[in-house]
Amino acid sequence: MTIKEIYEAFDKIGSCTFATINGTYPETRIAHFLAYDEEGIYFSTMFTKPFYKQLIETKKVAVCGLCAETKVTEIDEENIYFEPGYFARINGDVKEVSIDELKAKDNPIFKYFIADKERYPAMVAFVLYRARGEIFDYDFEMENRENKVERVRFSYGGFSVEPAGLSITDKCINCGQCFNICSFKAIYKDDTKYSINGTRCDECGDCYLKCPVKAIIHKGE
Ligand code: SF4
Ligand code: SF4
Repeated sequence: MTIKEIYEAFDKIGSCTFATINGTYPETRIAHFLAYDEEGIYFSTMFTKPFYKQLIETKKVAVCGLCAETKVTEIDEENIYFEPGYFARINGDVKEVSIDELKAKDNPIFKYFIADKERYPAMVAFVLYRARGEIFDYDFEMENRENKVERVRFSYGGFSVEPAGLSITDKCINCGQCFNICSFKAIYKDDTKYSINGTRCDECGDCYLKCPVKAIIHKGE
């Protein structure tokens, strides 16, 4: 995904949860991204807020948001319903950007920052210049497609990404039990062996627990 596509996925959500570390504990607040360019994705706060202090001290942030109806509907005592949607998450390194630097970019996308600085002189801008994350698109009842989950992982600014999903190793004896139990339709068989499509895998662990020869591994191992 390009930085523009990542920004647009968050922009569609609007308000997101921004997490920082305050000493030893994480803290969250609601904020939103405001702009992007080839350098990264931008947001603002006030230098008078703890958010600013934590950003300056750690130079890191994690952000997530949900693009869907947030209400979880109870269908019956054993089942709940999630309206199809996606959540987006991103984390990485931030640095402060002065308003003069934003003005020098001469990009209309930064007009809001510049106007906001005049409205609220304590306003400061940050750019998330190196990051990785994921768009996790879900349709658990398969109303609009034949599989429940589609995940896209991304990175920019020099970070790499680890593919999503569990993996099947050479210990596999081709019994097919994982294929039969995976309700996410993430397991497929080519001519000779079973494999997991990480973009469809929820990492639910059903196949891991079912495999009789421990041929499936997860990222925590
Ligand atoms: S359950 Fe285990 S052994 Fe059987 S096909 Fe799947 S990975 Fe292979
Ligand atoms: S972890 Fe869950 S979703 Fe992923 S392949 Fe195994 S059973 Fe399917």
